[in-house]
Amino acid sequence: MSNEALFARAQRIIPGGVNSPVRAFRAVGGTPRFIARGAGSRVWDVEGREYIDYILSWGPLIAGHAHPAVVAAVTAAARGGLSYGMPTEAEVTLAERLGRAVPSMEMLRLVNSGTEATMSALRLARGFTGRSRIVKFEGCYHGHADALLVKAGSGALTFGHPSSAGVPADVVQQTSVLAFNDAGALADFFARHGDEIAAVILEPVAGNMNLVPGTPEFLGAARSLCTRHGAVLIFDEVMTGLRVHPGSAQGLYEIVPDLTTLGKVIGGGMPIGAFGGRRDIMGHIAPLGAVYQAGTLSGNPVAVAAGLATLDLAMAPGFYDALFATTRRLVDGLNAAGAASGHAFSAHCVGSMFGIYFRERPPASYADVMQCDRTAFNTFFHAMLERGVHLAPSAFEAGFTSSAHGPQDIAATLAAAREALDLIP
Ligand code: PMP
Repeated sequence: MSNEALFARAQRIIPGGVNSPVRAFRAVGGTPRFIARGAGSRVWDVEGREYIDYILSWGPLIAGHAHPAVVAAVTAAARGGLSYGMPTEAEVTLAERLGRAVPSMEMLRLVNSGTEATMSALRLARGFTGRSRIVKFEGCYHGHADALLVKAGSGALTFGHPSSAGVPADVVQQTSVLAFNDAGALADFFARHGDEIAAVILEPVAGNMNLVPGTPEFLGAARSLCTRHGAVLIFDEVMTGLRVHPGSAQGLYEIVPDLTTLGKVIGGGMPIGAFGGRRDIMGHIAPLGAVYQAGTLSGNPVAVAAGLATLDLAMAPGFYDALFATTRRLVDGLNAAGAASGHAFSAHCVGSMFGIYFRERPPASYADVMQCDRTAFNTFFHAMLERGVHLAPSAFEAGFTSSAHGPQDIAATLAAAREALDLIP
């Protein structure tokens, strides 16, 4: 079946033909590629066409598609049973290893998605502080829990509905949205409402409004203000966790949050998430405390096996150095191609996350991101796709590299980019 025929078939039974909105190509137009298989840096669609993949399942596949060690671990785990709903040694081992990688997670719990992780962290922060208000930042996406779906990034931003219908006004009344990277605005807000704030949640490197690194000043202000006012600082590292640094963004910036959420990489492509942090806060989670949180499939043995195998690969000496060097080569090459093209173009990376922007300089704020030329991006996206390079189908998503992306992939991507840039009017 062709991509088009499958898309038509999908749209009759699945809203928009997809199980997560950005996959539908609405922002860029055209037909999504239906994927038949992946290996290493590549995916193949149902028509047999090959693509260098920079979506990587939206971040999880840090070792590339179907890494033999991960597949072997998953296969072995599956043979022993798909789920028990009873505790296993492997989930304890994964929790211990995550705690070593991200030492601020003195205790943690495994869940099944990033959304569950942030939703649970929020409830915990509210239960712990006895306060209701939360502060988030414009363009940051923290999954699709009601309280967090206000001026959100990712698909919400891509489709121009950053605040979802169906979210009761009462629920979001307790959510305050401030400008990302504006330490002054955050300080002002704390000065007025400090004793009401349960939590400040942020993406330390925002990856759901394209790529916008938090500034050290902004993240440092968030840390000190939360400490001073007794609010819980939550770093949502679902995307950045084990991606921008072996110790996650908090390892890179050397800022210690109270709670952290993880997902994506820690499951190597299987559904997983985690939230954790200070022992005194985590002690409020059931069955130790009064904040309820649970999951039939949480700590799933197959997902845990994929996570452990992925961590084995990632923690091997030199893994991150090589991965970050690859990403740097890609971004340097893109910047050179952009400069030669004469277009308003820039690219930037943090670890193995990268951003491509149709503006002169990488953005530092949501307002900067909004100035990017989306029409130029759409032309570029389709020209890249035709040349066998699959970028995220939105100007508002970060890109990812994996350890499977080699010099040939980068060279082919840059050759495609030079041609694609020439096609932009
Ligand atoms: N937080 C961040 C920072 C994310 O990037 C995402 C997903 N892209 C989520 C939370 C939600 O994760 P999930 O899609 O697994 O629910």
